Amino acid sequence: MMELTSYLKNNDLLKTENFIGGDWRGAPDKLVVTDPASGAVLAEIADGSAADAEQAVAAAHAAFPEWSRKTAGERAAVLKRWYQRIVDNREDLARLLTLEQGKPLAEALGEIDYGASYIEWFAEECRRAYGQTIPTHNPAMRLSTIRQPVGVVTCITPWNFPNAMITRKAAPALAAGCTVVIKPAAETPLSALALCALAEQAGLPVGTINVVAGSDAAGIGRVLTQDPRVAKFTFTGSTPVGKLLMQQCASTVKKMSMELGGNAPFIVFEDADIDEAVSACMATKMRNAGQTCVSTNRIYVHASVDKLQAQMAALKSGHGLEGGTTLGPLIFRRAVDRVHGLVEEAVACGAKLQMGGDFLPQGENFYAPTLLTNMHDEMRIAREEIFGPLAVVQSFRDEDEVIARANNTSFGLAAYVMSENIRRANRVVEALEFGMVACNAGVFSTAVAPFGGIKESGIGREGGVEGMAEFYETKYCCHGV
Ligand code: NAP
Repeated sequence: MMELTSYLKNNDLLKTENFIGGDWRGAPDKLVVTDPASGAVLAEIADGSAADAEQAVAAAHAAFPEWSRKTAGERAAVLKRWYQRIVDNREDLARLLTLEQGKPLAEALGEIDYGASYIEWFAEECRRAYGQTIPTHNPAMRLSTIRQPVGVVTCITPWNFPNAMITRKAAPALAAGCTVVIKPAAETPLSALALCALAEQAGLPVGTINVVAGSDAAGIGRVLTQDPRVAKFTFTGSTPVGKLLMQQCASTVKKMSMELGGNAPFIVFEDADIDEAVSACMATKMRNAGQTCVSTNRIYVHASVDKLQAQMAALKSGHGLEGGTTLGPLIFRRAVDRVHGLVEEAVACGAKLQMGGDFLPQGENFYAPTLLTNMHDEMRIAREEIFGPLAVVQSFRDEDEVIARANNTSFGLAAYVMSENIRRANRVVEALEFGMVACNAGVFSTAVAPFGGIKESGIGREGGVEGMAEFYETKYCCHGV
C-alpha cells in the first residue's frame, strides 16, 4: 500500500472511516481505493453498509431541528469557516483527488477552488431567502409566504468530480438549514471524507453532515431514496441509474434533483474564430480525459480539423502528479475498453481514424487522444455519452440542418456554439434544446449560475439562486385579521 501521508502536509485529512452522527465509524469489511494511474493501493477504508446509511439518516434527522432554527447568519459563519479550511488545505485536497481520480494536478486544484466557491456563494446567498407579502384577495385576510428548509437531504455523487459534486449539493442544503447524508462513488471516497474532516473542524454540528462510503451502492441507495425521514434526494451520475433512483423516490414522493448524462454538440460555423474554437473544444473535450458530463460529444464543423489534431497530439499523458501531465488515465479499465469498443465500431461503420485509437504504455487505464472524422449521426458513438479522450467530428451544410441534428438526442445538458456573427449566435443559442449553452466559450460552469439539464439529462439546477431554491419549501401563510 502507498504511504499516503508522505503526499500530505495535513495528515488529519486522511480519513478511512465513515462519518456518522459526529463519529468516525469503522466497519468489518474494507473498501480498497486505488490510484487509476499506477494501480497502487492507496487506502483501505470502512466499507459502509445500508445499516450505516440508516444511522446516518437518523443522525441527520435528529440534527435538523436545531440546525434549521439557526439564523442564516449563524449558518453562514460556519460554512465560511468550512470554506476557509478548504482553501487553506487546497494543495493537499488536490493531491488526494489526483491520486484517487487520476486528473492532472492543475485540474484537481481547479476543482478544489471551484468546489469551495459553492460553499462561499451559498453561505452568502442563504441570507437572502426572502418570502413575499401578497396583495390580498380579501380585506379580512393577510397573505404571505415564507421559505423553510426541506429537511434531511440525501446525496449520491459520481467519481469524475469527487469534491465539487459534493459541495454543489451539500453547501446549498446546509446553507438553507437542511442536514445531509452523502454517499460518494466507491472509487473516490477519500476526497469526500477529507471534506468531512474539514467540516467537522469548521464546527458543523453533530449530525448535520454525514458520509457513508461503501461498495453496496444499491443497498445504501435504497435507504437514501426510500427512508421516510428523508425529504429530498439529489443525485449526480448516469441517466440509467438516475431513472432507477427516481422510481425509488416515488414511494415516499420525495423532492428530487437529478444531474445526469449528456451528449453535447459543439458547433463551429464558418464565421467562427478557428483558433478560439480549437481552444474551447480542447477545454471541453479533453479536460478530465473527456470524463465530464458537459464534455463535447459531437463536433460539427465546416473547416479542416488540422489545428485540433495538432493540439491533441501535444497532450502529455502521465500520472497526474507528474509535472507537465495534461492527460490522465480513465477511471478504470472497463472505461478504457468501452471507449476502444466505440472507436472500433465507428471505424467498422466507415469513420476515419485521424489519430490515436490505441492503448498507451503508461498503464492499463491510459487511452490515446483519438480523433475520428467522417462520422454520421446514426453511429452509436454519436448517440451515447463517450466519456473518454475521443473527439468525433462530423460535417454539416447549414444552420437549420445542424440545429436539428444537434437537438436530435434524448439528452439535453450542455451545447457549444462558435460563431462571430451575433445574429446567428443569438438564433442558435435560443434554438438549441439544452439546459446550458456556451457561445464562444469552452468552460462555463460557476457557482453563481444555474447548472443542469433538460430532457433525460436531469431535473433541477445546481448553483445560482436556482440552486438555493432546490432546498426550500415555500409555505403560504394566510392570517385572518
Ligand atoms: P453512475 O454509475 O450512475 O454512479 C454515480 C453514483 O451512483 C455513484 O456514487 C454510484 O456508486 C452510485 N450508484 C450506482 N448504482 C447505484 C444504485 N443502483 N443505487 C444507488 N446508487 C448507485 O455514474 P458514474 O459513472 O459514476 O458517473 C458518470 C455519469 O455521471 C455520467 O453519465 C456523467 O454525465 C454524469 N454526471 C453528470 C453531471 C451533471 O451535473 N449533470 C456531473 C457529473 C457527472 P458506486 O460508485 O459505488 O457504484
